Amino acid sequence: MAEQALQGLPASPGLAIGCARVLGGATVARDTVPDERRPAEVERAHAALRAAAAELEALAERVGGEEAEIIRAGVLMAGDPVLVDDVERAVLDGLPAPAALEAATARHAGAIAALDDGTLAARAEDVRSLGRRAMRLVSAEGSPPAAEGLPAASNDASAAAVLVADELGPADVAELDPEIVGIALARGGPTAHAAIVARGLGLPLVVGLGAGILEADGQIMVDGGEGVVVLSPADDRAGAAADAQEARRAERAQALADRALPAVTLDGHSVRVLVNAATRAELDAGLAAGAEGVGLLRTELAFLDAETWPTEAQHRAAIAPVLQGLAGRTATVRVLDFGADKTPPFLAGTHERGLELLLAHPDALDAQLRAVVDAGRDTELRVLLPMVETAEQVHAVRARLPHGVSVGAMIETTGAVANAAAIAAAADFLSIGTNDLSHAVLGSDRFGGAAASATHPLVRAAMAATARAAAAERKTLEVCGEAASEPDAVPLLVGLGAGELSVGAARVGAVRGWIRALRYDELLQSRNAAGERVERDGRVVAVGPEA
Ligand code: PEP
Ligand code: MG
Repeated sequence: MAEQALQGLPASPGLAIGCARVLGGATVARDTVPDERRPAEVERAHAALRAAAAELEALAERVGGEEAEIIRAGVLMAGDPVLVDDVERAVLDGLPAPAALEAATARHAGAIAALDDGTLAARAEDVRSLGRRAMRLVSAEGSPPAAEGLPAASNDASAAAVLVADELGPADVAELDPEIVGIALARGGPTAHAAIVARGLGLPLVVGLGAGILEADGQIMVDGGEGVVVLSPADDRAGAAADAQEARRAERAQALADRALPAVTLDGHSVRVLVNAATRAELDAGLAAGAEGVGLLRTELAFLDAETWPTEAQHRAAIAPVLQGLAGRTATVRVLDFGADKTPPFLAGTHERGLELLLAHPDALDAQLRAVVDAGRDTELRVLLPMVETAEQVHAVRARLPHGVSVGAMIETTGAVANAAAIAAAADFLSIGTNDLSHAVLGSDRFGGAAASATHPLVRAAMAATARAAAAERKTLEVCGEAASEPDAVPLLVGLGAGELSVGAARVGAVRGWIRALRYDELLQSRNAAGERVERDGRVVAVGPEA
């Protein structure tokens, strides 16, 4: 079969190749089941619902906390007599079990979504997700043609698979099977929750491919950088993707093998490597690769579809699964960074972003702070503030927190760089957000697609000024933007005095390895030769060009 390319939108870079594993989709067989086979088909459908309930129960036990309660709602749904009856009736009307499960769950989801209630609308996606799970679990036994449309690779756990779906909800993303090497979505956007998690986990992802992708069958290749998916790729293309995939697998294996090695330069300078996370899956992957904790928990991602400011209970439910995995470790929880590309529907049209927006809604800020302090009580908790502009903003948040909670300020605007000395005095630590900062300094549009380099002299100057401010106040300097995981930026950041680098889970092992290959004294010397130095107590602690 000749290869066929589908153009979508790039959402997480990298090449991947594997068998299409379609979640739901349009290929479920609907051939009428003969009368005499219908009772057996009813039993297959019931067994699939029971198996889905058992899987969800096991998942709930794994993640624990309040997220487990949300997942358990799916267990109850799977046993809901109305749904079970509906599935049974569809089979007795002649539909094969997978099609009956799809039809009945779609009907229930549609009814819930029509209720005009934001919270219940979210449940509709949970019912669809239950339906997809049950369809995947329908036993192939005794049903020759009905197996058509089930995931091509589902019976072969060792085979690489590309997950193909209409959209992915948070529960789907929290639980990606290990054999999933890439994702292709009919809908979704590059800034959706699934996209950000995929980037963290290093999974190539293309979104917005249209419904045609749901017909995918056999081998498909995902080019997450170009936003292209190729069905039945030619040998040379397939080979290139397989090589890239193997390189990623080898890097992951190396990270796991080296996780016990310290992140210390050849001359004994330690750098803490932390993981950026929004989900438990990213945390687990980061810790497995040797991360010492979380350096940036992006809390807004769980609420991108919110209809109102999240309540304290909703915040607790969203962050508890991650914080439970961080007992005794650094947990840097950033308060909601809504605005720009992360604007939920209820804030449409707002021009404020991050901390400024939160300070304009103090009740919403307090609700989150209470949840964070409560859920983080067993961790080394740090509260991180996005898009800080002034020291007064830092003081304002500190005054709302219990005494002793560590407060960090992100330096990611030109205003923050200009006020870095005062902000460093007000905060317990600084964290450079190189993603926003690079664009702010270079005057480019972060969401316009063009890359902005953190190694550009102007960005270096801004980071050096921040480093000097942190050093002068003896405050920890963290870097949590993409630059912290770029090979040419890491030596610069370590040389500037960054004591902590926080990076996506997939990059933790590589960054730790790069640090082990550096000589700190050489980084300092080369910067000093250029007249770039910061001293503390007579000792050079950070270097960089003058701002
Ligand atoms: C940054 O701007 O570098 C950063 C880490 O924040 P975010 O990417 O979430 O805006
Ligand atoms: Mg930012």
